[in-house]
Amino acid sequence: MKPIKSNRRSTGIQRIDLAYAKLASSHVARDINRDVVLELIRTRQPVSRADLARISGLQPSTVSAIAEQLIEEKWVTEGAAAKRPRGRRPTLLSLNGNMVILVADIRPNQAIAAVIDLNGRFLERQTLPLVADPERGVQVLIDCMKRMLANHAERSVEGIGLSLPGRVDPMKQTLILSPNLPWSGYDIKGAIEKEIALQVEMDNAANACLLSELWFGRMNGIRDAALVTISEGVGTAILANGLLVTGRAGLAGEFGHIPLDPSGPKCSCGRSGCWEVYASSRAALKYFAELRPSDARLTIFELINLAENEDADAITALNRQASFLGKGLRMITTALSPEVILLTGGLTSSWSRFGPLVEAELAESMLGTTPPRIEVTADVELARLRGAAALVLQRHSGAKRSMTDERKAKAVRARKSRAAAPGASGSVAAKPNRRKDGVRFATRP
Ligand SMILES: [Zn+2]
Repeated sequence: MKPIKSNRRSTGIQRIDLAYAKLASSHVARDINRDVVLELIRTRQPVSRADLARISGLQPSTVSAIAEQLIEEKWVTEGAAAKRPRGRRPTLLSLNGNMVILVADIRPNQAIAAVIDLNGRFLERQTLPLVADPERGVQVLIDCMKRMLANHAERSVEGIGLSLPGRVDPMKQTLILSPNLPWSGYDIKGAIEKEIALQVEMDNAANACLLSELWFGRMNGIRDAALVTISEGVGTAILANGLLVTGRAGLAGEFGHIPLDPSGPKCSCGRSGCWEVYASSRAALKYFAELRPSDARLTIFELINLAENEDADAITALNRQASFLGKGLRMITTALSPEVILLTGGLTSSWSRFGPLVEAELAESMLGTTPPRIEVTADVELARLRGAAALVLQRHSGAKRSMTDERKAKAVRARKSRAAAPGASGSVAAKPNRRKDGVRFATRP
């Protein structure tokens, strides 16, 4: 995949934000170093400890200590000795190809479950029908994941990642806003963790896709970006100053539910005329159904296919969607001024045809500067699944762990002071850190 070039000087290290170093306790610094080393192993594997020290600028002893930790935690394996003309032949480090993550991309009508390794390679993938009832729907997913675990019993499973078509409260890890799938409020994480003793991480599809670009993709050096998913709805994820913005209760970035016309058609969120009512794949299908009611039961891919075959009504419908997509991107640009806007899904698979219209709409009313670059990821399915894996990787990586360690320490202090108060009661349930069948399970909440 071609990297997206940043206008700014690249640090060569992805995901790591120096603003974070302001927290600078010694274990935060250690975890940042750990992330830097892990990132370098991922991008340069197989690589020697000496090369890691040279590239990172860290002391060789620091690199060795981190490497031992990563090997012990099973993120990294030690492989063959490097060929050198003379002297000691160092052994090379690579990501552990035996460690995998169970993932699922949950959509309003179907879910895709997969097993994916640390390099983003798919070992198994399966599409499942989904029902509106959350308990039954989640059970279908659990049964599939159990089959997948049995198929890959010889591997270490790091955790479960879910990409969802709605907003997830990052603290409570519950789905709190999901206009196109009636699962809000249902404890998806709890239901899965009860039956499969692996930790579940979940986030909305747009955040997952943006994380996928950060972990496996092309974002090297880019610190300000927005990613827009175009499917049944329109979702947005924001990278600002190098950090993923979630906002209070994880609700930042709901541009899809900002009205373009308050007197417009009803939206699934309950209000009227939201951007997604005009710019989603569902909107394009509606435009087409208005032009040709007899052919109303198409999928978006069939509609795009018709347009590729020069069907005039299909082109009109998708042009209308593209125009509204560009109008909405103006909101994002005005609010955030990103360097790049990444688009995934729907009409991006026919970008040479519809892209120029989107870009023209966006360019029409820029404030004082040129429009951001637009890049498309046509294969939204892969992006969402890799993003679900990145959720687990991110949660279990060093930097994130320190933040949650601090949060945990704060919670313990609060609990202690509550327990000390007269009449207080409360209990702390311990989480299992090992599955009964011996498969490794990292507990780093
Ligand atoms: Zn809405």
